Amino acid sequence: MNFRAAVKALLEALILSERIKPSQDAKRRAFNKYKLRGGIERFATAVFYSILRKLGIIDEKIQELTGVKNVYLLDETLRNALRLSIELLRFREISNKQKKQLRSILAGEIRSRSHPYASHFFWEVFPTLEKLDFTPKSEEDRLVYTYYISRFYVRKLMELLPPEEVEAFLKKINEVPPISLRVNTLKASVDEIEEAIRRLGLEVKRSPRVETVLKVYGSLDLERFRPFKEGKVFVQEEAGAVASLVLNPKPGEVVVDLAAAPGGKTVHMGELMKNRGKIYAVDINEKRLERLKELVRRAGLSIVEPIAIDGREAPKVLGEGIADRVMLDAPCTSSGTVQRNPDLRWRIMDEKDILEFVDVQRGLMEAGWKLLKPGGRMLYATCSIFKEEDEDNVAWFLEKHPDARLIHLSGPYDPGFLEGTMRAWPHRHDTIGFFYALLEKPKKS
Ligand code: SAM
Repeated sequence: MNFRAAVKALLEALILSERIKPSQDAKRRAFNKYKLRGGIERFATAVFYSILRKLGIIDEKIQELTGVKNVYLLDETLRNALRLSIELLRFREISNKQKKQLRSILAGEIRSRSHPYASHFFWEVFPTLEKLDFTPKSEEDRLVYTYYISRFYVRKLMELLPPEEVEAFLKKINEVPPISLRVNTLKASVDEIEEAIRRLGLEVKRSPRVETVLKVYGSLDLERFRPFKEGKVFVQEEAGAVASLVLNPKPGEVVVDLAAAPGGKTVHMGELMKNRGKIYAVDINEKRLERLKELVRRAGLSIVEPIAIDGREAPKVLGEGIADRVMLDAPCTSSGTVQRNPDLRWRIMDEKDILEFVDVQRGLMEAGWKLLKPGGRMLYATCSIFKEEDEDNVAWFLEKHPDARLIHLSGPYDPGFLEGTMRAWPHRHDTIGFFYALLEKPKKS
């Protein structure tokens, strides 16, 4: 097998994957350039994903070794050469001849792509990489090494849940999730869709909490699944469907969906409103709004008006006191969705990764409140498990608006850490982590 080509392709794929998302596109580009095929391609693919999975663990060791605080301060070729070497030396069986080749190929690549000093450093440090110690020294280490998730995430989880639940949560988010579909009852019945899935030989279960949500086990090619193309089903998590059910918009009402794209909740609300009334679907991201338009078209809805603006400007654009309901499914760290988005494992690394969202979340809450008519209701929701984005924001809001009433949510999930709020948990409810707080504006006295 052509080990040299595999090493060069892997180095390039790792460098590209820092810039190109999804990472499989970066891999494809690099592997094509070096014409990897057959057994060597399979080997290199396994190595590539294995590195990405344990990236944070490997990077911690690189930081210890080089003395830099953050691995991203290192030259990119050196950084990725070290990552690749650690994976191959510590976690794969390669021959002594291959180890020698690895050292000289990567030193050469670093020399030609960056700086002779970096190459020299790599050459010197290479023999120690094989001896790096990955045995856990604490319970926290054990969880990080077993479940491949940032130390910060594990610490936050330990603050939220008792020890046995921390492990259950981490186990759950390492499982491959089923595909979750919601049936559009304007166009199809749940029975009909269930039957269509069974006919494909796939196992399907109804959600115990939302009767229109189905979980499909096995691989369902959605692009070839007719009910999907016809807008009879949408991909949606049970916890996402619960958001629209909790807000409960009625036919004929005016609704503002303040962070609407790609439109999962917009189309669900349109369905609950029987396509009567009005939904302003606001989102700052035009590209994502294009996806929303496609979803709305497939759902067959005519009451949705997409608006590409910063939601914080919505009261100026739409006017104050115009909405019966506001859906605020706020932009967040998405820390409740790691099972679906494995890339997040090493992206939530410290407190500032949370705090960067809090400002915009609070700004959007203020805007949503202005949009509401007296007596109107706003659902504040996130797919984050962190209190800073959830209960803390609601507590802040209630202090600022003592006239706001927090409507007590009593199901289908568990109470949140602030009385009246609600949380869905992956390990308890078999869905993404989600937070809900329903706020009501006082009627005019
Ligand atoms: N509700 C959507 C659904 O069910 O499909 C998902 C919304 S997603 C959690 C958050 C959205 O907020 C993203 O589409 C993002 O573009 C949008 N966003 C971020 N900052 C915003 C802002 N200042 N104003 C409006 N939308 C914003």
